[in-house]
Amino acid sequence: MLSDRGHDNLWARTALEDDPFVPLASDVDADVAIIGAGFTGLSTALHLAERGLKPVVIEAHGIGHGGSGRNVGLVNAGMWVKPNDLIEAQGEEWGQRLISALGDGPKLVFDLVDRFNIACEAERKGTLHLAVGDKGLTDLRDREAQWQALGAPVKLLDADTATRLTGANGFRGALHDARAGTIQPLGYARGLARAAAAAGARIFTHSPATSVGKAGDGWQIETPGGAVRAIWLVLATNAYTDPAQPGLLAAPQQELTILPFFQFATRPLPAELAERILPERHGCWDTRLIMTSFRRDHGNRLIFGSVGSLETWSLVAQQSFARRSLKRLFPFVGHIEFEARWHGQIGMNKSHLPRFHVFADKAIGVCGFNGRGIAPGTVFGKQMAAFICGENEMALPTTPVEQASLPTLRTLSYRLGSAAAHMVSGFGR
Ligand SMILES: Cc1cc2nc3c(=O)[nH]c(=O)nc-3n(C[C@H](O)[C@H](O)[C@H](O)COP(=O)(O)OP(=O)(O)OC[C@H]3O[C@@H](n4cnc5c(N)ncnc54)[C@H](O)[C@@H]3O)c2cc1C
Repeated sequence: MLSDRGHDNLWARTALEDDPFVPLASDVDADVAIIGAGFTGLSTALHLAERGLKPVVIEAHGIGHGGSGRNVGLVNAGMWVKPNDLIEAQGEEWGQRLISALGDGPKLVFDLVDRFNIACEAERKGTLHLAVGDKGLTDLRDREAQWQALGAPVKLLDADTATRLTGANGFRGALHDARAGTIQPLGYARGLARAAAAAGARIFTHSPATSVGKAGDGWQIETPGGAVRAIWLVLATNAYTDPAQPGLLAAPQQELTILPFFQFATRPLPAELAERILPERHGCWDTRLIMTSFRRDHGNRLIFGSVGSLETWSLVAQQSFARRSLKRLFPFVGHIEFEARWHGQIGMNKSHLPRFHVFADKAIGVCGFNGRGIAPGTVFGKQMAAFICGENEMALPTTPVEQASLPTLRTLSYRLGSAAAHMVSGFGR
């Protein structure tokens, strides 16, 4: 687990939604025990409670402590894997189901934002995938053709339009996806928690599950303050699963390799300067292998991210890379000072697609969002709620848990490799 020492997560500073939840302090009974209060666990809880069931969520830290409170906030409609490759990997029927569920994912997120009035800086103007060089442009042309064949509202914009919409020169084009948008992710997670609690879910924070065992026909989950007894168990711990945990608790981690991703946020820019950057507040990322992202929040901070961790030994290299990159993108910005910096863990798997597991009888989970978990976590939370109610709407087949190959070595190589690459490169285009 990456340490958060020295971190300052912008989203925790600017979230307008509260986290009023307290630790579990006695034994409780539930229909469904959900471990993990990120998008997946909270969406499961909300949709179960709306169906009249009694879910209990237990979270080791605060709401959105994992990827859900640390991410870039790009509400994407699909995975990294291109549609044709996804269909090849999943087969025609499952592939089409998954594409359709993920394509509708941003709509589900924004509908929830509207329905529960979630304060999360929601922007629905789409996202821009930015082409770096000929290779990037070819990749985006291919993506555009594949998505358009499926009727998706994506369009490849030329270099001039990319410049107008980003304020940055040098990108060869941009793939605009009108289904997508951006959010303040921690605000969204906390808003989901508020909605779930209002619908009847009980949520306990700072309550780590320390063991899980069968109890009669159901499950018993121990925490330091009490136990949860439930018929069903949902493991929603994903990349924040501690692999040292006993038994089932460690299961979601087994097939994941951890990819670290960091972000730096500038101080708020003066309005006249900020308006030259991302005038429509699109969220952006580029086509490079070591991907970078940038966006502007409602406080007019520029937020820049890339692969890597912010540890004592890598912080200086990553910060200098972020500053150089922003200066190249937006030379008119002048001196850049960061007011927040943080990193998070992304759970990657071999297929680069989420996977649905039945870990044991009445113990389920969807793992491996591969850096695309806002809409998919929300979608699969809803689908797992339906599954528990006996309606199989899952857009994923049940798959056994696989063992990731050399996960520790790969994670270490991401951490070291990104710092080395960033030490020598700027934002080359
Ligand atoms: C830096 C970063 C940038 C990203 N950018 C994007 C993006 O722009 N768009 C996008 O769609 N996705 C993005 N992602 C991915 C996305 O954030 C995740 O896929 C998503 O948040 C996963 O949600 P989750 O609910 O499944 O898991 P998480 O949000 O990770 O939640 C798991 C929770 O389980 C808790 N937990 C773990 N063990 C226990 C235990 N024993 N007992 C109790 N609780 C426990 C953790 O504390 C944690 O809160 C990004 C991820 C990162 C890290």
